[in-house]
Amino acid sequence: MRRTLSCLLLAGSTVFPILALAQPTELQARAEQLARQAQAESLAYDIVESLTTEVGPRLAGSEAEARARDWAVAKFRELGFRNVRIEPFALPVWERGREIAEIVAPFPQALTITALGGSVATGEEGVSGEVLAVASVAELEATPAEALKGRIVFVDEVMTRTQDGSGYGVAAAKRRLAAYLAAEKGALAVLIRSVGTSSHRFAHAGQMRRVTEPGDDPGVPAAALAAPDADQLQRILGRGEPVRMRLVLTPRTRAEGTSGNVVAEIPGHHAADEIVLVGAHLDSWDLGTGAVDDGAGVAIVTAAAKYQMDALKGGPQRTLRVVLFGAEEVGLAGAKAYAERHADELGNHVAALESDFGADRIWRFDTGASEATLAAAQALGVPLRGFGVGPGNNNARGGPDLKYVREAGVPVFTLLQSGWDYFDLHHTADDTLDKVDPEALAQNVAVYTAVLYQLLNSEVTFR
Ligand code: ZN
Ligand code: ZN
Repeated sequence: MRRTLSCLLLAGSTVFPILALAQPTELQARAEQLARQAQAESLAYDIVESLTTEVGPRLAGSEAEARARDWAVAKFRELGFRNVRIEPFALPVWERGREIAEIVAPFPQALTITALGGSVATGEEGVSGEVLAVASVAELEATPAEALKGRIVFVDEVMTRTQDGSGYGVAAAKRRLAAYLAAEKGALAVLIRSVGTSSHRFAHAGQMRRVTEPGDDPGVPAAALAAPDADQLQRILGRGEPVRMRLVLTPRTRAEGTSGNVVAEIPGHHAADEIVLVGAHLDSWDLGTGAVDDGAGVAIVTAAAKYQMDALKGGPQRTLRVVLFGAEEVGLAGAKAYAERHADELGNHVAALESDFGADRIWRFDTGASEATLAAAQALGVPLRGFGVGPGNNNARGGPDLKYVREAGVPVFTLLQSGWDYFDLHHTADDTLDKVDPEALAQNVAVYTAVLYQLLNSEVTFR
């Protein structure tokens, strides 16, 4: 669908007719030109360096996440964005405590773990029990309660490494569900093999399914084992003797906390009420400094947005809105808050994109357009080819924080980054700045710059 003629005739800007009349190829050429300029600069790297150095880890609802919001507001203002604001929302806040796992018998030794987000505590003394291993969530579901009662359950499911990250959704099921399934069957606690592909001796954090209703079972204490420690536990179990473990986890949840989304805009010249949303999430897990998840995303979208400001003179026709979501990691709380607060406006959101898959290069462009506008959506990918990005499918998901806006009908696009190495770092102590390759980051910025430029200066709506 195209904007109505009456809307076009209302154009007051002298810049608009030039861009509006531009043939797609001209728009594409300008997009590529701008992307080349963006790629040559280091703004994105400077942003992720600043966030990870000056704020560091920023767990949802923490004082550090609040400092990250202040950092973002200052950064947006410094870069010249308009309508910069924090949109706060309430949420329960989970805080990590002490974390100890040790084999008591037959071969006493400590294991490396980290508590799962949302886990309840064992108490200071911890819990002790015999370990029962299951190979999957399905096996846990099928195991009778008598076998699990009073046991520490070990869910030993291995994640598959893939380029598109599809192994993650499968592997994350054990993290989301195991503590609740184990609780139903009277188990003492749960250990899972880390959701990740690293062979290093650190555990991958991550959120369990969020308990939403007051009467819901909060589950048993739950933690992830580092992959080599999961291997070790499996070998010890393989010796055939009963294995006893002691587990101490002392996290706590404060019922009343605050997070917030940080919003910044570049108002459009002609179609200011038409919004192109680009997002990333500002919170991170607490073990690393959240450089690849999702400091890189914050940097990529902020830099690509900045290049639209006076892009090829005059700025964008549509309004560009950057949203740095809060509390993504603990269950998309910021995404939900945004969709609720802006419900009346979502009909005006022309397109939405999010960068939240690390800092590696983009290789594929997925669209989420109507049949009628599919050709126009695919044409957005033409200037990306010189950056090594090929066409994908029309089932774009758009990123986790776009779940609710996508469900409300906003067309989403995905610039898929390579995920080969992402889950080596994901939610670990190794998620630090040195893992961000400046050249790969600049490729991301270039590609986002090209897509945003076209979306902002096009007339097509993709519904
Ligand atoms: Zn993320
Ligand atoms: Zn994450």
